Amino acid sequence: MIIDRIELVHLKLPLNSPWKTAYGTEDSVESLFLKAHSGKLSAWTETCALSKPDYLPECSHSARIAIDQFFMELFLGKDFQTADEIHEAFSIYKGNTFAKSALELCWWALTCKEENKALHQTIGGTKKAVEAGIAISLQKNNAALLKKIDAALKTGYKRVKLKISPGKDREMIAEVRQEFPKINLQVDCNGAYTRNDIDVLKSLDEFNLGLIEQPFYYTDIADHAELQAVIDTDICLDESIRSYHDAEQAIRLGACRSIALKMGRVGGLSQLLKIHDLCKQNNIGCWIGGMLESPVGTMINAHLASLPGITNASDLPIGDERYSLDFCEEVTAEKAKIHLTKDSWIKQDIDEDKLKDQAIFMQEYTVFLTISAYE
Ligand SMILES: [Mg+2]
Repeated sequence: MIIDRIELVHLKLPLNSPWKTAYGTEDSVESLFLKAHSGKLSAWTETCALSKPDYLPECSHSARIAIDQFFMELFLGKDFQTADEIHEAFSIYKGNTFAKSALELCWWALTCKEENKALHQTIGGTKKAVEAGIAISLQKNNAALLKKIDAALKTGYKRVKLKISPGKDREMIAEVRQEFPKINLQVDCNGAYTRNDIDVLKSLDEFNLGLIEQPFYYTDIADHAELQAVIDTDICLDESIRSYHDAEQAIRLGACRSIALKMGRVGGLSQLLKIHDLCKQNNIGCWIGGMLESPVGTMINAHLASLPGITNASDLPIGDERYSLDFCEEVTAEKAKIHLTKDSWIKQDIDEDKLKDQAIFMQEYTVFLTISAYE
């Protein structure tokens, strides 16, 4: 597969409601859309790296520059037979996992087109429909949170994940558990706690949570191992797992019993698949995490959620849960089950004019030259 042209569109997507986590509050999300061409084939992809370097050091701006300055010349016009070859070619440069993943996803997209297969078929997915879970950001008060959870359950979401942060944890979770004693409930700390908070985190065991996601800072795999040894609730790592090696090390040290899989965070779909297999071999739970993608990226994630080692509902917002966008269709589901079809792996009815209307930056690359740029 030789990709000979890529259109890169850096978008700002307005959220339907503010997204508040331990990192701060966002009213909009920035995402990179790439349209890859190989001869007559073309396909859109989305890689959401967020607008600021608060989730991880990389963000949409740095990913775009890394693509432009380092990775595009290693990728465009080269004949890659497998995605592993792309990972190998990119491995001369450290980090920049979202930039690497964005280009690798172009290869997967066009490979699916060439083989006339859906993404879930190409990667060995075993489900034709996948369960959607919802992530709920910090709300203004507990009453608003309970209302939001109630609405999510009525939609049919199979799992509810709450963002928590120091001071907005025990009492809030207790109230949720009292109201909804049986639901599949998880919490995500986004790295906001430290080893000084081990007692607070241990006290959450009584709430029968499905897991506690990323309690400590993203570099603190050893500290997570210390915590997992003293709490009953499964720790799930998100930000800490930025490569296959990180996953292998975290599992070997006993730092987690679950991993949130995100291809942008681990350097590409090829690496996500390897980590998925590693989790399966080691009886470690895994599921597909979201990065506030548009419905385009959410549908890609839905196909990944069909992998056989997925043990929990994935982050897959339905309908207008996050956005009301005019360039693509909303994600549809039946009782929060998303059906996977060949056409749904990436929404093919993207209105390109409307998409480009929302661009904050666009650039086109061909094998021979960079055509244009404007900001
Ligand atoms: Mg997370």
